Amino acid sequence: VSNPDRTARRREALQATLAAEGGGAAALLVASETNVGYLTGFTGDSSVLLLSGDRALVVSDGRYTEQLRRECPEVEAHIRPVGQPLYVGVAEVVAKLGWTAVALEAAHISLAQFETLREKAPGATWKPVQGWVERQRLVKDEGEIAAIREAVSMAERAFARLRSGLSLAGARSEKDVADDLEFHLRRCGASASAFPPIVAAGPNAALPHYRPTAATRLAGAASVLIDWGATGRAYRSDLTRVLAFGPTAGRFEEVYEAVLAAQQRAITAIRPGQSAKALDTLARAALEEAGLAAHFTHSLGHGLGLELHELPFLGREPDVVLAAGMVFTVEPGVYLPGWGGVRIEDDVLVTPEGHEVLTGLARDLDAARLNP
Ligand code: ZN
Ligand code: ZN
Repeated sequence: VSNPDRTARRREALQATLAAEGGGAAALLVASETNVGYLTGFTGDSSVLLLSGDRALVVSDGRYTEQLRRECPEVEAHIRPVGQPLYVGVAEVVAKLGWTAVALEAAHISLAQFETLREKAPGATWKPVQGWVERQRLVKDEGEIAAIREAVSMAERAFARLRSGLSLAGARSEKDVADDLEFHLRRCGASASAFPPIVAAGPNAALPHYRPTAATRLAGAASVLIDWGATGRAYRSDLTRVLAFGPTAGRFEEVYEAVLAAQQRAITAIRPGQSAKALDTLARAALEEAGLAAHFTHSLGHGLGLELHELPFLGREPDVVLAAGMVFTVEPGVYLPGWGGVRIEDDVLVTPEGHEVLTGLARDLDAARLNP
């Protein structure tokens, strides 16, 4: 996904932020491994990027000397001596370069690392900043969108394979199904599962972040909730579907249709200039009309990209104004203790004209019936 032109443009944009908002800081210490990868193309770990107005320098260790040369030859590399802690190495570089003020990613540095910096580079002052790179990552470029499309396709193909073999027969457990799904994801091209899949049978689906167990059998459950995603070329997908065993009726249909209507109402409103929080409000209002809003216990969705949960968050402060190139999930849910839950989750791209739902997997009530 990354190429030298793209990563160079990303660093230039960040240098502009440093000049405008850095309060005189000479450089920014990028501590998030995800952000380092986004800005350089480097895929290793245990490394930080120091970015000043005219330098880009990765502080790493000997395991990565050759990898840095291959993945980002245009970025300087400082390989610290074997045994030296990363932040001692960072402090040495800062002291050697004579930087007296350095901005740092406060959300990605531990207190212990911060104390090491203060102790080992006593000539520098440190200015905590937040969200600079994350805000840049909000709007995806063409390469990133293509990678997300691939991750969506992998997840959908894996689900189709899983679904065709899914039944109440035998003693299959939630964990068996989750393990099968991970296997299918990899067979469909994923480098990994985007996160451990959630497979929640019957009443377990009342827990939005349930972990599948080997002890819970599918046999006897009326329905199962499956939340899964693929990591393709570093970018992720994230979907949820609920499948009902046998004919559906009553409560299930009522809840399912209400959740689907809430999702549709939010998706329809997606376009540049729209407030992310307003989408959450629309979905909540739809569930209110069905008398179910009290059971929608999380916010409507989250951005998707290099990380599973990133900006924008739909319905969390501070609000975000949508712009073309943003990608996020829309996932209303209703959870009824003792009964179960229904969540329907799809991935949506904001386009200049409005939006495109990237996920194509059927989501109507018919598609939710496993054995009609
Ligand atoms: Zn999900
Ligand atoms: Zn999600």
